[in-house]
Amino acid sequence: MTVAPTTTTVVVPGSFDPITHGHVDIITRAAALFDRVVVGVLVNPAKAPLFTLEQRVATVKAVAAAIPGVEVQAFEGLLVDFAARCGARAVLRGLRSSVDFEYEWPMARMNRALSPGLETVFLAAAAQWAHVSSSLVREVHALGGDVEPFVPAAVLAHLRRDGSSST
Ligand code: ADP
Repeated sequence: MTVAPTTTTVVVPGSFDPITHGHVDIITRAAALFDRVVVGVLVNPAKAPLFTLEQRVATVKAVAAAIPGVEVQAFEGLLVDFAARCGARAVLRGLRSSVDFEYEWPMARMNRALSPGLETVFLAAAAQWAHVSSSLVREVHALGGDVEPFVPAAVLAHLRRDGSSST
């Protein structure tokens, strides 16, 4: 049997404010499952991020450079439209807990209603990183704690360079 060559693209969307080792884990695992991974860094005018869009894209790119098959793009607007622009068959999200599930389930249903051909794939968070979130990293850093165990070097470099990020 001959299998037709195809390229299957998945989108991994998020705020990445900042990217953590938990994100890196799911992006790496996504790259093992799909031919092409597009990490979508969300431009969200409603949120005031700690890291600017440029910093978030730069830090995600610094990580993605080491993972074959991974690209990084900023996006705004509907996720289903971004996925269509990328030619993606699926959206991939990480699940850390039932709290994530409660949030993800209606989003997955809504995205399916908006774009029936687009699948949502969930990866269970690695036990090692299941307690790590960008919001906790921001909080620990703001209070003077060491976030080195939880974030890639590119994020640490930004935090150390930009003292204003710690306020
Ligand atoms: P959003 O604001 O869209 O939730 P995040 O940047 O917080 O964006 O998260 C992007 C994706 O990464 C989400 O699917 C989230 O569940 C997943 N994620 C975040 N932290 C972790 C982690 N520690 N382990 C696995 N997945 C994670």
